[in-house]
Amino acid sequence: MDGDAPVRSGHGCYRDRVPRPRTFTTDAIVLSRFDLGEADRVLTLITPHDGKLKAIAKGVRRPTSRLGGSVEPFAELRVQLAHGRTFDVVTQVSVGHAWLRMRDSLEPAATAWYLAELADRSLEERHPAEPLYLLLRRAYELLDAGMAPGRVARWYEMRLTDELGVRPEVDRCVECDRMLESTDTFRWVPPLGGVLCQREAGPPSDRTGLSLDALKLLKAYQRMDAEGLALLRVPPAVEREVESAMRDFVRIALERDARSLPFLDEVRAGH
Ligand SMILES: [Zn+2]
Repeated sequence: MDGDAPVRSGHGCYRDRVPRPRTFTTDAIVLSRFDLGEADRVLTLITPHDGKLKAIAKGVRRPTSRLGGSVEPFAELRVQLAHGRTFDVVTQVSVGHAWLRMRDSLEPAATAWYLAELADRSLEERHPAEPLYLLLRRAYELLDAGMAPGRVARWYEMRLTDELGVRPEVDRCVECDRMLESTDTFRWVPPLGGVLCQREAGPPSDRTGLSLDALKLLKAYQRMDAEGLALLRVPPAVEREVESAMRDFVRIALERDARSLPFLDEVRAGH
C-alpha cells in the first residue's frame, strides 16, 4: 500500500498515515543536569547518533521515582525517550556501565566532570556525535581502570582537538613552517595553533616558553595510544607544563574557560 495514502479505519473515517514512532531508545551519557520545578530534572545527554540533546526526567527527585538513581551523570545508560515539545521525555532507563570506581574517588570523578564539560561545549544539539561519544566513553573506561587522571585528561584533550579540526602543530614552526629541531628554542602559542621557533620576533605577551621535554610529551600525546601513555615515566614539572599548555589550547579552541576546572584543581590540591 502507498504509505502516503489516507488509511480507511474500521470506523469509516479517514486518518493520516501513521506518524513516526513517538519513542526511541539510545545509549547515552549524562553530561550535566539541573533541577526543574518540584521533582523534575533536566538532563543534557550525549548520544552516538542523535548527538547532544536535552531530556526531562519527570518526578525523578521523588523517593518513589521509578527512574530514581539510574539517571546519574558520568554513567553509560540505555534510555528510552519520547519526543516532546521542549525537551524529550525520559520514559525508561537502565544502567549500561556505572564506572563506579571512577565516580567513587574524587580526582577521577572531578576529571570526569571536566571531560563531560568539554564534550558539552564542543557539540551543538542534535548533530550526530559518535566519535566524541566513543572518545568520552573510552576516557571513562580508562579513569575507571585506574589510569592517572591527568594522563587521561591530556589524552582526551588531544583527541578532542582532532575532532574539532584544530590539532596543535608540534612538528613544525607555525610561522615559518620549518621542522623543529632539538636545538631550537620553543614557544607555545595557542592562538596561532601550536609551537613557534625562535626566529619569530614579536610581542611576548601571549607566548610562553616551552621546554624540549614538554614538546616531546606533546608529541607523545599525538602519537601514542592510551596504553602506551599510561606507562610513560615523566617528571612532574613536565606533566604540569603540558597540562597548562593543553588547557590554554583547549580554552582558546572552545573560546571559554571550563567551569569545572577550579573544582578539579581544588580536589588535587587537597591530595
Ligand atoms: Zn619559525
